[in-house]
Amino acid sequence: MFDVGINGFGTIGRRVATAIQRQKDMWIKGVASTSPSWKTQHAAMNLPFFISLKKYGENDSENFQKSIDSFLNYGIKPKGTLFDLLDDVDLIVDATPKRVGQMNKEKVYSKKNHLHAIFQGGENGEVARITFNALVNYGSGIGEQFIRIPSCNTTAMLRYLKSLKDVAEIDRVFVNLIKRGADPADHRGGPINDYVPGEIPSHHTEDVISVDPTWEGKLITHSVKVPVTLMHMHNVIATGDFPSRDKILESFYDNPRMIVIGGHDGIPTAAEIFEANKRGDIQQIMILEKTLHLHNNTLMFSVYCHQEADVIPENVDAIRASLGFDDPLESVSRTNKYLELENTKKSLEKFFPVY
Ligand code: NAD
Repeated sequence: MFDVGINGFGTIGRRVATAIQRQKDMWIKGVASTSPSWKTQHAAMNLPFFISLKKYGENDSENFQKSIDSFLNYGIKPKGTLFDLLDDVDLIVDATPKRVGQMNKEKVYSKKNHLHAIFQGGENGEVARITFNALVNYGSGIGEQFIRIPSCNTTAMLRYLKSLKDVAEIDRVFVNLIKRGADPADHRGGPINDYVPGEIPSHHTEDVISVDPTWEGKLITHSVKVPVTLMHMHNVIATGDFPSRDKILESFYDNPRMIVIGGHDGIPTAAEIFEANKRGDIQQIMILEKTLHLHNNTLMFSVYCHQEADVIPENVDAIRASLGFDDPLESVSRTNKYLELENTKKSLEKFFPVY
């Protein structure tokens, strides 16, 4: 049984906690966060709760004491500090905001020799030697002390690119990402009435290559942020030597972290799929079958990715890899089984069948 802690209890941290609670071979010893809020109150009702600091330095003891007082005033009784939690776990999942993970690594995690850590995509690639995707490079993560899960969009790309690579000889892939402006619970994000284009290539190109170097020189990604909170959408154009459309579809269908979405009437929108899934998380990425168009050596298709959810199974697999579990397929299969991914797949395939 792996003993795990979580530092940062926001969009990703809360979901990773639920996912770990469902696994049979890992155990949450506690979660940590910085400020009292309904989220930390919720955490403390269900799990041992510990206090983190926004910054670490010479006055840690004094700052922890001040923070304990503010939590107690809020009605939350912490079990201790992040340091107490770290002494009790094999691995910490860092789900703090961008770049905070790097600071935590330098000031806190690296000082605990026994401790392994998983970081999220908001950190630079340098935070860990390995950027990880369970279906692509699980083996490189085995026994690694520090692992980074790339962004939700990079995770999505790695999944469909793997399925393409399994059946085709690819020359080039161009991905245009239409990115959600903010998560549904984020009232500060945006835009609310604009397009915000990014530079070309976007960071996803480099991130994909850091996991699978064979994409070097073949992949170019571009992104534009729009006023949507539901999901990201990828529009992909690939050139190369492809088998039939059916064979490509079959390869996507066989991917354990993808769902092929068809539909009775036209192409389902992201909101329709969400409603069909009772507005719940969708941890697989969704390829839209009706957009899959093959013309000679050019392939086009579109994919939805639920940004809050697709990295969650990867976090679970990365925990196993980092702590030495050396069977990638078994890890993916266990994660999927305990997260009941098959149920989501079956129900969405029923609502949006491919004929
Ligand atoms: P979030 O803002 O929802 O949650 C972060 C949590 O960490 C908050 O509860 C905050 O109070 C807490 N926190 C802040 N400073 C802290 C510190 N020093 N120590 C401990 N806790 C602290 O952020 P998020 O969306 O969950 O993102 C977390 C990471 O996951 C980022 O690297 C982000 O880029 C990445 N990510 C986010 C998404 C997404 O859709 N939101 C998808 C994939 C990856």
